[in-house]
Amino acid sequence: MKRFPLILLLLILAGAATMYLCGKPKPPAEPTRLTYQAIPDKFAAEFSGENAFKHVKAIVDLGPRPPASEGYEKTLQYLEKDFAANGWTTVRQKFTRSTPKGPIDFTNLLARHKSGEADWAKSTPVIIGGHLDSKKMDFEFVGANDGGSSTGVILEMARVLSADPASAAKVEFVLFDGEEALLHTITPTDGLYGSKHYAREMTKRHNWPAFGIVLDLVGDDDREFLYNPETPASFAVAVEAAARESGMTKLRRSPSAILDDHVPLQEAGLPCLHIIGDFMNMPYWHEPGDTMEVIDADALKKTGRTTLRFLAAVAQ
Ligand SMILES: [Zn+2]
Repeated sequence: MKRFPLILLLLILAGAATMYLCGKPKPPAEPTRLTYQAIPDKFAAEFSGENAFKHVKAIVDLGPRPPASEGYEKTLQYLEKDFAANGWTTVRQKFTRSTPKGPIDFTNLLARHKSGEADWAKSTPVIIGGHLDSKKMDFEFVGANDGGSSTGVILEMARVLSADPASAAKVEFVLFDGEEALLHTITPTDGLYGSKHYAREMTKRHNWPAFGIVLDLVGDDDREFLYNPETPASFAVAVEAAARESGMTKLRRSPSAILDDHVPLQEAGLPCLHIIGDFMNMPYWHEPGDTMEVIDADALKKTGRTTLRFLAAVAQ
């Protein structure tokens, strides 16, 4: 992901809106948005940081997982097995994109509980996502925090929610491929491949989710956590209350906009909450040191519980 001034993000969004209003490209019909009714907050206390930690370690042990690699395939299989064990059905969303390193076959992984909407042309009220890929480097890069941590939190949330089919039915989990740029950093044409594809496909559905949540770099308890400054005001209120209740004392509004997987969703018209560790102050970010050494089960627990409590608080 990449930081840039909020004003720049607003200009990009304004530009997109202007193109819309000028009638080019053809504006889509106003989508039907699902309404969201709160998931009870009693599930938050069931979220185990230790369980999430074990998932992160298992994923890291599979080795680097850049797009279309053997490690990525093994990680997909690990997730599919764990989701299935908790009653979730998964779908691989495959697509090919040209990149600065040539065409690459990408795979997003989508999961819904068996109690939920079975028709993938329709949505669930909420999507919760994070990226699965690790950045391809010329050294061994396993991305324990960068891609691993949010994935572990998602698997543990899936386990917790599966205890209540009515709540699980409201959520779709998405593991995005190709968040990382093939070149140095994310630009408008390099990186966020999976979330851009997912957002485009989502807009073709018969109805849309009410909102989305995207997590990234959430395993380091020594750094601050940031949420997106452009999130709706009611989301900011809800996440701050949820963080307080979950002991996530280091969460604050980001002073600048961050380019990550929530941005293509927001540009498609889906309001989002984005929670990310302060990567600019992680000396190991995109370096060989992003290993299990930097992962703290407590940070994973606070993130999981804050996210679950947000789901309870946001509808009130
Ligand atoms: Zn990264």
